[in-house]
Amino acid sequence: MSHFDRFERFYFEDLGIRRELVRLNDAWASTLGATDYPGVVQSQLGQALAAVLLLSSTIKYQGSLILQIQGAGPISTLVTQASHLRTIRGLAHWRGSPEGETLPQLYGDGRLVLTIQNEGQEPYQGIVALDGDSLSQALESYFSLSEQLPTRLWLFANEQRAGGLFIQSLPGHEDGREDWNRIIHLASTITEHELLNLPSHELLFRLFHEERVRLLDPEPVCFRCSCSRERIEGVLLAMGEQEITSVMEKEGQVEVNCDFCNRRYTYDCVDITALFSQSPRLAAPGTPQ
Ligand SMILES: [Zn+2]
Repeated sequence: MSHFDRFERFYFEDLGIRRELVRLNDAWASTLGATDYPGVVQSQLGQALAAVLLLSSTIKYQGSLILQIQGAGPISTLVTQASHLRTIRGLAHWRGSPEGETLPQLYGDGRLVLTIQNEGQEPYQGIVALDGDSLSQALESYFSLSEQLPTRLWLFANEQRAGGLFIQSLPGHEDGREDWNRIIHLASTITEHELLNLPSHELLFRLFHEERVRLLDPEPVCFRCSCSRERIEGVLLAMGEQEITSVMEKEGQVEVNCDFCNRRYTYDCVDITALFSQSPRLAAPGTPQ
């Protein structure tokens, strides 16, 4: 089994500290698709993808966790999503040629929203202040405010890989400051190269070889887009007959591209008429289902 595209969970025995590790290779390439992201946008997207996957394991849910940033800065939208089945997807939109390092430089005046979509329940949202130098800092302060559990995150991404390391004190062990400080001191030596390249046992040994670590079975992670013809039709219906008919008249067809997976959905005038009259519709040949 490859060391990449998997979610790995470890416990420091006796210390009440958990650690999670994700490194994405194929799933990252599929997320990038054919989009030519500028360097800083690509890095933010990769970090957010690793982050949403790491955070998704801290909650019990059946559905998806969405990390979303909307801002007025060079990066206007960043969305990443992880499901309880460890499938992920994500995208970013930007203006001009984004530069900068800190969150305010990249996103301007914005906010980070974490949404838990639990099947059959109302979505739950948590808001994270968009300040600090990095996504990991913003998420760490969110955890210290909302969960009050000491939490540290390291996130890295380059063109080939995206990955993250997450360390959190388990409830009831908040008193073990000395152990916590030692583990964080060891973890803080991690470099981007180590996190994105080393096999996990080697990474683990390099960082924590004096600690007793228990490793749980790794779980595979893959890219999957949940878009479908039915969902796109729901969006078209919500936009309204008038608007869609005017696109139809202008373009001769209605074409919708999924920004997450680049799948193209095409509707001809028969499809659109049927959609708005709610009559049974024949699937057009050659269109993705
Ligand atoms: Zn899609």
